[in-house]
Amino acid sequence: MRSATAQSQASQDELRALQLAKLRAGLDGVLRSNPFWRARLTNVNGWDDFERLPLTAKGDLVADQAAHPPFGTNLTHPVDRFVRVHQTSGSSGDRPLRWLDTAESWSWWLSIWADHVYRAAGVRGGDRIFFAFSFGPFIGFWSAFDGAEQLGALAISGAGMTTEQRVRSLVDLQSTVLMSTPTYALRMADVAKDVGVDLTASPLRVTIHAGEPGASIPATRAAIEAAFGAACFDHTGMTELGPTGHSCSQRDGVHLVESEYIFEVLDSQGRPAAEGELVATNLGRWGMPLIRYRTGDRVSVSHEPCSCGSRFMKLAGGIRGRVDDMFTVRGVNFFPSQVEDIVRRHPRVAEFAIERGREQQMDEVTILLEITGDDSSTERLEADLRHALGVRLGCRVVPAGSLPRSELKAKRVLS
Ligand SMILES: [Zn+2]
Repeated sequence: MRSATAQSQASQDELRALQLAKLRAGLDGVLRSNPFWRARLTNVNGWDDFERLPLTAKGDLVADQAAHPPFGTNLTHPVDRFVRVHQTSGSSGDRPLRWLDTAESWSWWLSIWADHVYRAAGVRGGDRIFFAFSFGPFIGFWSAFDGAEQLGALAISGAGMTTEQRVRSLVDLQSTVLMSTPTYALRMADVAKDVGVDLTASPLRVTIHAGEPGASIPATRAAIEAAFGAACFDHTGMTELGPTGHSCSQRDGVHLVESEYIFEVLDSQGRPAAEGELVATNLGRWGMPLIRYRTGDRVSVSHEPCSCGSRFMKLAGGIRGRVDDMFTVRGVNFFPSQVEDIVRRHPRVAEFAIERGREQQMDEVTILLEITGDDSSTERLEADLRHALGVRLGCRVVPAGSLPRSELKAKRVLS
């Protein structure tokens, strides 16, 4: 009988062999007809070849789509082979990235929901899954919705509803699963309390959250679980990559779906490390694939066996945060540099800072401004911020000289 360590090594070797086989099969077509990757990649015969392939960052994709609108050159097939288009939330300050799926790659997304994310959370065919999501162009929970149908569950759209309507619909339809961002779940809980709805008395037993790391943050998870009387799970994914991971019964981190991706964690010098930036290669989205893609997420990885039985590596505590400093407004992530980019176009603004607070469980962000001259109106700037970022950020004028200044890196986010 083999030891547990030997078994685990054999299983790792099997996984690596599966990854390499999938990569080689997929790359074959990509290197034949995908102009973006033809210009960057060479054939991969083994892991040494793979590790020599260049890293690609979001900026490369944004530049490519800007130079070759509307979809860029990362296309393995003519556009008429694709059946869906979604886009990123535009939260990193760049223009939104558009991403196309073929019927095959969409089906790959859905199978990851059924085989991994829903399964890990114990969601089954008989469940009723409520989606507190607006179903706009942002990919968000679209794949989860279709994945729920495929599982045989009842998929319930919460699009076009107020928060109170969502709370009532969730309860009236006897939903057993809620899908939302973590902050929005807390918002729903607040509204439920205001209108006298007891969510813990409903049949809801599971909540799954994406978009923010909240479901892997113990205090946030505990607040959601107490408000809904349900077990709360995390899910990670990216518009341009696909669904990458999920928390498990241990809920102390996020397993990465290594049968469908190659994941690497690299330090700032690009060397493999236990802690660093997550780099991913998807193995089932060959119409518009990503090879060695820098996610911008900071992670700390564990290869220890997990008591849930998963053989996949685990990000301890989920995604730690973006490599850059990030803040969140209504479930959408922003960076200080995006605000700065707008504010600096207004020469009357001498200095600014981003003030973060919490109100009714939602992040409340105010831009503090020191303004020179007699006219201290902020309407123009507020309108520009709203136009550029897609959310309303209030501005407040503060006395000259009251904001922190530094000759080195400014402390831009105050909380
Ligand atoms: Zn686990």
